[in-house]
Amino acid sequence: MKTGMKIGVLGAGQLGRMLALAGYPLDVDFVFLDPASEACAAPLGEHIHADYGDETALAEFCSRVDIATYEFENVPNAAAEFVAARVPLHPAPRALTAGQDRLSEKALFVSLGIPVPTHAAVDSRADLDRAVAITGLPAVLKTRRMGYDGKGQAVLRISADLDAAWASIGSQPLILEAFVPFERELSCLAVRAQNGQMAFYPLVENVHRAGILRTATPTVNDPLQAQGEDYARRVAEHLGYVGVMAFEFFVADGKLIANEIAPRVHNSGHWTIEGAETSQFENHLRAIAGLPLGSTALRGASVMVNYIGLAPELEAASALEGVHTHLYGKMPKPQRKIGHATVTAPDAAALRLRLARLLAILPDGG
Ligand code: AMP
Repeated sequence: MKTGMKIGVLGAGQLGRMLALAGYPLDVDFVFLDPASEACAAPLGEHIHADYGDETALAEFCSRVDIATYEFENVPNAAAEFVAARVPLHPAPRALTAGQDRLSEKALFVSLGIPVPTHAAVDSRADLDRAVAITGLPAVLKTRRMGYDGKGQAVLRISADLDAAWASIGSQPLILEAFVPFERELSCLAVRAQNGQMAFYPLVENVHRAGILRTATPTVNDPLQAQGEDYARRVAEHLGYVGVMAFEFFVADGKLIANEIAPRVHNSGHWTIEGAETSQFENHLRAIAGLPLGSTALRGASVMVNYIGLAPELEAASALEGVHTHLYGKMPKPQRKIGHATVTAPDAAALRLRLARLLAILPDGG
């Protein structure tokens, strides 16, 4: 690797911040482009404070970096194409757009033989009735674009819920999905190098509340590991993917059903900073910089807990044995992710105890 490499990152949120923290030991410097003035990665590199549609700023960004990536999946395609025409951009724009529309994303999974929930496109109130006839109830109505952390979604339980759901999000293209009565939610974090080599972290079990990820726990020898890796490999190879990709699944009847992909490092992989030989952030940088991938093996037992909302309890939490706190430099607000903790322990029994101690002092039990 050449020393003093400069990596440009579209987006400067917490994922950009953690990419930079992983990059500095490798002598990598960072340039971020983000329209937010309070972007939380900004203190860790140069920050070009501009809109993604500002071509003068994008050209400036490209002139300052050797390679580029993104940490935000809703970067407009035009911005990604603009950058890719000037500097190597990984993952490529087609990987970015593959996950931006929930309907075409599902069509991609289906074309690769990956199971998805029963679903239908909804572009009008009449479509919604037709879609319910296909999926049945309960079902989840979602915006096709720009949804995150459960935003832009409505669960339909009875026919009387349809009008209210349509009134709240019906002004944009939607998708209706059958509600999957899942036993677990798992994600597969995969990394693909420029030479096509792939590495996979152990599948991660994710627990959400109100659409927001609460805890993420790496599994050990999960029976679905090979299946998850196979599905992630199909998508990554199809897209010529370079970098870390997260693939989220439901588990129903003991089988994986695809939910969505994120073409970036992912909240369900934050435990890898302390819990794996090589963090997802370092492996993403290695992949896009053309370096060999690092080991994805576990280092002991770990679990990630998101810090959500106001957190006067943080000081007590951070004092607990095995609790590694990461704060993102964000203003605390209700329901806002302001940081996370990785709880580590030498074994599963000790981990359970340490996690219970942490959850006991967090608001609403974490
Ligand atoms: P998403 O933004 O699609 O990842 O949805 C956020 C969360 O809502 C998921 O992690 C699930 O917990 C829940 N969810 C979304 N879609 C469905 C579905 N079709 N069936 C059951 N739960 C769902």
